[in-house]
Amino acid sequence: MATIGHFIDGKRIAGTSGQVGPVFDPATGEQRAAVALASAAEVDAAVRSAKAAFPAWAATPPIRRARVMFELKRLLEAHMDELAQLVTAEHGKTLADAKGSLTRGLEVVEFACGIPQLLKGEFSAEVGAGVDLASFRQPLGVCAGITPFNFPEMIPMWMFPLALACGNSFVLKPSEKDPSAPMRLAELALEAGVPPGVLNVVNGAKDAVNALLAHPDVAAISFVGATPTAEYVYQTATSFGKRCQALGGAKNHMVVMPDADLEQATDALMGAGYGSAGERCMAVSVAVAVGDQVGDALIERLAPKVRQLKIGPGTDPEVEMGPLVTKEHLEKVRGYVDLGVEEGAKLVVDGRGFKMQGYEHGYFIGGCLFDQVTPEMRIYHEEIFGPVLSVVRVPDYDTALQLVNDHEYGNGTAIFTRDGDAARAFAQDARIGMVGINVPIPVPVAYHSFGGWKRSLFGDHRIHGPEGVRFYTNQKAVSSRWPTGIRAGAQFVMPTLG
Ligand code: NAD
Repeated sequence: MATIGHFIDGKRIAGTSGQVGPVFDPATGEQRAAVALASAAEVDAAVRSAKAAFPAWAATPPIRRARVMFELKRLLEAHMDELAQLVTAEHGKTLADAKGSLTRGLEVVEFACGIPQLLKGEFSAEVGAGVDLASFRQPLGVCAGITPFNFPEMIPMWMFPLALACGNSFVLKPSEKDPSAPMRLAELALEAGVPPGVLNVVNGAKDAVNALLAHPDVAAISFVGATPTAEYVYQTATSFGKRCQALGGAKNHMVVMPDADLEQATDALMGAGYGSAGERCMAVSVAVAVGDQVGDALIERLAPKVRQLKIGPGTDPEVEMGPLVTKEHLEKVRGYVDLGVEEGAKLVVDGRGFKMQGYEHGYFIGGCLFDQVTPEMRIYHEEIFGPVLSVVRVPDYDTALQLVNDHEYGNGTAIFTRDGDAARAFAQDARIGMVGINVPIPVPVAYHSFGGWKRSLFGDHRIHGPEGVRFYTNQKAVSSRWPTGIRAGAQFVMPTLG
C-alpha cells in the first residue's frame, strides 16, 4: 500500500518519523493509502525550505507572480477531473460537488492573478514642504495553513494562492484524512512555475500543527477546522507572537417566514442540509419555521424528499449524497441522532439503518430529519456535521432572530421571505458573518472575504478577498524629503510637516 509522504523543496519525499495514519475510501471502507505523520524535525525541514525560498520569491515582481497564477489556473482547469477524483476517493463527496468546490478554489487563484493591482499602494505628494509619503504592502515571510477534511482542495486554495501572490512562501498542513488532493495541488503549482520551496506540504496531525505553531520562522497561521481546534490554534499561535486567522465550526440557521415560497425553501433546505452529507461549515443544520403552519408545511414537503435522497458512492453520477468521511465520524453522527431521540425531539426520518448493497462497509447514513427540536437540546447547540436537519418552531420573527443571535456560532444564516422589510431587518440585525436572503449557502465569491462571527472565527481577518491580501502582507509607510537641500533646522516638537 502506498504511503503518502511530504512535498518539500519541490519534491515528494518519504516521511521519516516512523508514524503513519490510514487514509480510507469512505464508500467502501477500505484503506487506500497510508499517510506519513510529520515530526517536528520534518516540519522544520519544510519551514527551512520555505525560508530559503522566500527572499527571491518576494523580490519577484508581482506581475511575474501573477503570470504564475495564470498558469496555475490553466493547469487546475486541465486537471479538474483528476483532482475531483482524488477528493471523492478520500472524502466521499460526489464528483459534481468536488468539481463545484474546486471551481470555488480556482476563483481564488483568479483573484490572485490580479495581484499587481491588489498590491498597488497609495502615494501623497507634498505632505510637507518637499516631503512625499508612499504606503504599500510587503509580504510577511513564511506563512502556514492548517486545513480540515471537508474541502481538501478548496480550503488550501483559500490560502496559498493569495499568500504566494503576495510574495510569501507557504507550508501547508492538510487534513490527514484526505491528503492526496492537496499534494497534487502542490505539484501543479510547481509545474506552473512556483519555485521549489515556495510551497511545501507537510502531512501530519497534532504534532505537526504544534511544531508549526511554535516555529520561530513561521510568521502567520491560517487555520480552518472545528472551533475547539481553532481556539487552541489561535491562542497558541498568538502566544508565539504570530499573526493568526482561525476559522471554526458552525450551526447555520435558515429562517422560513410565513410568506416564503415554500417549494423554493424546501429545495434550499434539501441542498444546504444534505449536500456533501452535511459536511460543510456553511451547511444549514437548523430550519427555523416561523409559525406552526410553516413548520407543518415544511415537514410535509421535506420528509418524502429526505426519504428519497439518492445515496451512494460519490463516483456515481446519479448520486446526490455520498458517505461520511470516516467510521468515527459516522459513529459520531449516529450518536447525535440517538441523542436527539433521547432528548425528546421527533425523528421524522431516520437514516441510521441505511445500507447499500455492494457497499456494506462504506460510511453511509441516510438523511435524518428532526421536528420539534428546542434550543435546550444538545442536537440544537452542537455541530453535528452530518446529514441531520433540525426543525425548530418559533411563534414569530423576533424569536427567530433571537435564536440566531443567541447561538455561540456565527458563520452563516439565511432568511426565506418575500417581505423586503423582514429581509432587510434580518440582514442588518443578525449577529452572523454571512447572511443569505433567499440564498441558503451565502458563501461570498473569492473577491470578497469569507468568515463568521462569534465562535466561528478567531482573529481579525477573514479569509481570501481583500482581507486575505491584508492578512498576508504588512503595510509600510515611507516618508521622503527631496530635494535634500531644504533646511528646516532641528525640530524638538512633534513634526507636523505641513
Ligand atoms: P479539525 O479541527 O478536527 O481538524 C482541522 C485541522 O486541525 C486538521 O489539519 C487536523 O489535523 C488539525 N487538528 C485536529 N485536532 C488538532 C489538535 N487537537 N491540535 C492541533 N491540530 C489539530 O476539523 P475537521 O474535522 O477536519 O473539519 C471539520 C470542522 O471544520 C467543522 O467543525 C467545520 O465546521 C469546520 N470548518 C469550518 C470552516 C469555516 O470556514 N469556518 C470551513 C470548513 C470546515
